[in-house]
Amino acid sequence: MFDHSSYDSHEDVHLFQDAASGLKAIIAIHSTARGPAAGGTRMWNFASGEAMLKDVLRLSQGMSYKNAMADIPLGGGKAVIWGNAKTDKSPALFRAFGRAVESLQGRYYTAEDVGIDVADMAIVRQETAYVAGLDHGEAASGDPSPVTARGVFLGIVETAKRALGSGDLTGRTIAVQGVGSVGGYMCDHLAKAGANLIITDIDQAALKAVADRTGARIVAPDDIYDVEADIFSPCALGAVVNEQTLDRFRVKAIAGGANNQLVIPELGELLRRKGILYAPDYVINGGGIINVAAEISGNYSSEWVEAKLARLVQTLGEVLDEALTSGQPTNAVADRIARARIASAR
Ligand code: NAD
Repeated sequence: MFDHSSYDSHEDVHLFQDAASGLKAIIAIHSTARGPAAGGTRMWNFASGEAMLKDVLRLSQGMSYKNAMADIPLGGGKAVIWGNAKTDKSPALFRAFGRAVESLQGRYYTAEDVGIDVADMAIVRQETAYVAGLDHGEAASGDPSPVTARGVFLGIVETAKRALGSGDLTGRTIAVQGVGSVGGYMCDHLAKAGANLIITDIDQAALKAVADRTGARIVAPDDIYDVEADIFSPCALGAVVNEQTLDRFRVKAIAGGANNQLVIPELGELLRRKGILYAPDYVINGGGIINVAAEISGNYSSEWVEAKLARLVQTLGEVLDEALTSGQPTNAVADRIARARIASAR
C-alpha cells in the first residue's frame, strides 16, 4: 500500500468483505484535516482488485481537493463496491455496506456516485446515519446530480468566456461523453442555453431520452474524441484524457463532470500546449458535494448551497485566469490552491 503509485499519504484505507451478501468494498479516507471525510460510493465491475484500489485511492484524494476548493468543512474519502450495478445489487449488499460505513463511526460520510442511486442509499441508511443524498428524512437533499450538473453547466460558461471569448453558448457545439445523471441534466441546461449537442453513451435508452429532449446528435462511444466541437464535456468515467486521445481532440476546451479526467497530471501541460483550456475536474464538478455538505450539516439551506456554488464558479474562473496569465497548466494551479487549503487546516 505505502508504495502504491496512487497512495498519497491517505490517512486510512479499509477493505470490507461480506460472504453472505457478496459485498466486496474499499473505503479510502484521504484526509480529515478539514472535517470528516466525505465522498460518494461507486459501484463498478472492476477488471481487478488492483484497478479497484487504484480508483478509490485517486478518487478519495480528488475528494479532499474538491472539498477544499468548494470551501466546505469536509475532508476527502470515497468508497467503491465491486459488482455490476445492473445485476449485482441486493438489500443485503447495501445493508452490509451500511455496516461497513457505520464501523468508521463518522470518519467517513457516503452518498451516491456512479452506479448508485437514492434507493440504494436509503438501504445503507438503515445501518448508519453517516449517509447523505437521501430523499427522505430531516435535512434530506436527494440526489446531488442536478446540483453537480448545474455547477458543471455554469463552469462551462465560465470556461467558454476564456476559451471562446464569450460565455454565450448560443450556436456553440458541445460534445458530451456520458448522459447519465450528471450528463443528462447538464445537456438540458446546455440545450436551453442554445448550444448544439453531440452526445454519446453506452446506454442506448439514456441516449435516446436525452436526444429526444434536446435534439442532440448521437455518435458512437469511440467517435466522441474526433468530433469537431467548441468544448468536449466528459461526464462518464475518468482517464479519458490520455496519450491516445490527446491528438484526437478538435476542441478549444475540456470541461465536464467526470472525476479524474486526466490519466496523469502531466496531461494538463500537454493540453495547455495544444491550446485546449482544461477546467480542472474537481473544481467544476463540486456542486454535488456542496449539496451533500448542506445535508451533512443537518440544517439544509438552499441559499447556502447557491452561495457556495456561485463562489465555486468564481474560484474556477480565478484558477483559469491565473493559469492563463502565468502560463501554467490549470490543474497545477488548482492542485496548489487545494493543497495549501488542506495544509493550513492541518
Ligand atoms: P451515471 O452512472 O448516472 O452516468 C454515467 C454515464 O456514463 C452512464 O449513462 C453510462 O452508461 C455512461 N458511460 C459509461 N461508460 C461509458 C463510455 N465508455 N462511453 C460513453 N458513456 C459511458 O453517473 P453520474 O452520477 O452521472 O456521474 C458521471 C461522472 O461524474 C462520474 O465520473 C462521477 O464520478 C462524476 N461525478 C458525479 C457527481 C454526482 O453528483 N453524481 C458529482 C461529481 C462527479
